[in-house]
Amino acid sequence: MFDTLSDRLGGVFDKLKGRGALREQDVRDAMREVRIALLEADVALPVARRFIDAVTEKAVGQDVLRSVTPGQQVIKIVHDELVETLGGAETEGLNLDAKPPVVIMMVGLQGSGKTTTTAKLAKLIRERHGKKALMASLDVNRPAAQEQLAVLGGQVDVATLPIIKGQQPVDIARRAMEAARLQNFDVLLLDTAGRLHVDDALMAEMKAVAGVSAPNEVLLVVDSLTGQDAVNVAQSFSGEVPLTGVVLTRMDGDARGGAALSMRAVTGKPIKFAGTGEKLDAIEVFRPGSVADRILGMGDVVSLVEKAAATIKEEDAEKLARNIEKGKFDLDDLAMQLRQMRNMGGLGMLAGMMPGMKKAKAAMQASGMDDKVLVHLEAVISSMTPKERANPDLMNAKRKKRVAAGSGTDVQTVNKLLKMHQEMARAMKQIKKMGGLKGLAAMFG
Ligand code: GDP
Ligand code: MG
Repeated sequence: MFDTLSDRLGGVFDKLKGRGALREQDVRDAMREVRIALLEADVALPVARRFIDAVTEKAVGQDVLRSVTPGQQVIKIVHDELVETLGGAETEGLNLDAKPPVVIMMVGLQGSGKTTTTAKLAKLIRERHGKKALMASLDVNRPAAQEQLAVLGGQVDVATLPIIKGQQPVDIARRAMEAARLQNFDVLLLDTAGRLHVDDALMAEMKAVAGVSAPNEVLLVVDSLTGQDAVNVAQSFSGEVPLTGVVLTRMDGDARGGAALSMRAVTGKPIKFAGTGEKLDAIEVFRPGSVADRILGMGDVVSLVEKAAATIKEEDAEKLARNIEKGKFDLDDLAMQLRQMRNMGGLGMLAGMMPGMKKAKAAMQASGMDDKVLVHLEAVISSMTPKERANPDLMNAKRKKRVAAGSGTDVQTVNKLLKMHQEMARAMKQIKKMGGLKGLAAMFG
């Protein structure tokens, strides 16, 4: 197995403890590890290099959030840049916005998954777009390639162009256009022939087919296991035919997703879909976030860091850290923690992300804690006066009754909260003894 990037970065950043901003030399050291992670994920070398330069520039000088380690912060920066490079948050579907028949042309090397993907898309077009599609195979090289598409057409209930043996690709394309027009098909999918390697004859054929069919979409189908060679494939095709997008197949296998970054970088075109199996419904809209996780090999850390960064206001975190360093932990601090727990998706979410939290979660559940209780506990705290929050010892029976009534809970809940506070305050003192938050982070890391 690969070391995860967070393992590697842990080492790089050990010496960084206690510093405020990411320094150039540290970032460069970290980027050496990132580079290895990218290459192991099969990102093409020149693409990895360019990517690293961009990230380095962004990372140097950034302040490290109190709530995360420098290593985690660098991972987040790398992750965000990956997502951005892979297409950002937008997901691009098929562009069917043209005068029918809208032509979709599939191109790629032999065995990349063109024919399978053609049938998958046809099914999607019928089921999700509610449009009538016709498929035509222009593959006259591989024996029985045209029959293969006809069989798949039967399986997804989409029409295929009748086969006329001996006809050449460009003529088949013309005939398919004609048939689609005459029979009022909304969409025409052209499944082209591939070669084992890119060659001139193939490119000439693709150009000629594109010439007669004026496709609205030209989708390059690439096997995600292609690895370093992906760049050559992408360069050759994008130089010859007007690509509009990419489909990555075999994302169900153990591909580490690097081809996605290479394809995107070289073609500049969106990756629209991911093939996730041999079955004809095994296709998904491409999700940059999950592929970025896969490239880095550490999804959980990233989502934890992201949530931490999004939900913890830095001042809050700093105040808490200061208090913990002082060994002080009052009910305002507890309220903030409860709020953060809730914002981060509650107890279940936290436990799912951090292996070490599983035991803590079980303990909390055993004592009747769940996400609804978090809300109640917050309500209890906000019904207390500032004085009471700073000094919980003030809470006598009378005050407890008042707070219970004010928060719509009962005295039992108020007691539970006070007990929880006591326990956490004690835990915070422990943390202080163990060397503060950094010590704690070291234990988790
Ligand atoms: P073509 O030569 O480009 O037309 O490739 P095919 O569509 O004939 O696919 C070649 C092989 O790859 C077939 O056995 C497909 O079932 C398989 N295949 C295609 N897409 C995927 C995918 O996303 N995942 C997996 N596991 N197999 C796929
Ligand atoms: Mg084929």
